[in-house]
Amino acid sequence: MDLGISGKKALVCASSKGLGFGCAAALAHAGVDLTMCARNEKQLLAAAKNIRKFGVSVKIVVCDITTETGIERVLESIPNPDILINNAGGPPPGTWQDWTNEHFLSAINANMLTPIKLIQSVLPSMIKKKWGRIVNITSGAVKAPIPALGLSNSARAGLTGFVAGVSRQVAKDGVCINNVLPGVHDTDRIKAFDETSARDLNITVGEARKIKAASIPVGHYGKSEDFGNTCAFLCSQHAAFIIGQNLVVDGGAINATI
Ligand code: NAP
Repeated sequence: MDLGISGKKALVCASSKGLGFGCAAALAHAGVDLTMCARNEKQLLAAAKNIRKFGVSVKIVVCDITTETGIERVLESIPNPDILINNAGGPPPGTWQDWTNEHFLSAINANMLTPIKLIQSVLPSMIKKKWGRIVNITSGAVKAPIPALGLSNSARAGLTGFVAGVSRQVAKDGVCINNVLPGVHDTDRIKAFDETSARDLNITVGEARKIKAASIPVGHYGKSEDFGNTCAFLCSQHAAFIIGQNLVVDGGAINATI
């Protein structure tokens, strides 16, 4: 399917690997020029080299996207993007007794306020152009809370509420804002969780992974490439009537009727 977005410009945050990289690759495949960012320069350079194979222009910004400077620098690199993919690292797991005000502020900054600031920065030019697409990578935790990820459950709920309101305010200007809620995907973040589970249960990482995969109706982890294609579709011309939605991409893991 031709997504109809060849020649558009996208900012894909936190995209040197994992789900962000999957989104960058899918957009590049559709002919979109990109700015990618991450903190580790070596990994980002390697990721950008891979993406350039699609024949699109790729700029990179080595930065922490959750800082004021990081936000400023990516926006300098791509002042008026047509497409914004919001992403950042997720908060660490833990238990409710341990989380301090500082932990909450850090999670809220990374997973709520940073995407909100970026949305606020790019919306005026999208509205002017009467075209824009914003996809926020959030988490299945928004729909079905994950007890050990209370920081994520809380911060992402805030972003989801903001998007629910603003997406409807800018819809008439041709701007579509949606959230995609990943379930378990085969990324380094999930590998780290599997290593912790294996240690806690005194089993191998392979066994921990097998147990988790068996709990997903499709029977396996998701792939970043497929996640990226879902995201790219939401950025396409065909998604012009999809506004303020929370699309769960989790292999059926959340057991819910709607
Ligand atoms: P990942 O494999 O660890 O990749 C994270 C990417 O983001 C890397 O490129 C990393 O590069 C970059 N990054 C992290 N923090 C950053 C920051 N502050 N500034 C700039 N770049 C940053 O993680 P993932 O699994 O793709 O997860 C992406 C997001 O989806 C996270 O918020 C995660 O909580 C959420 N999520 C993932 C899953 C899943 O199954 N994978 C499920 C639910 C939710 P650097 O480290 O070099 O900065």
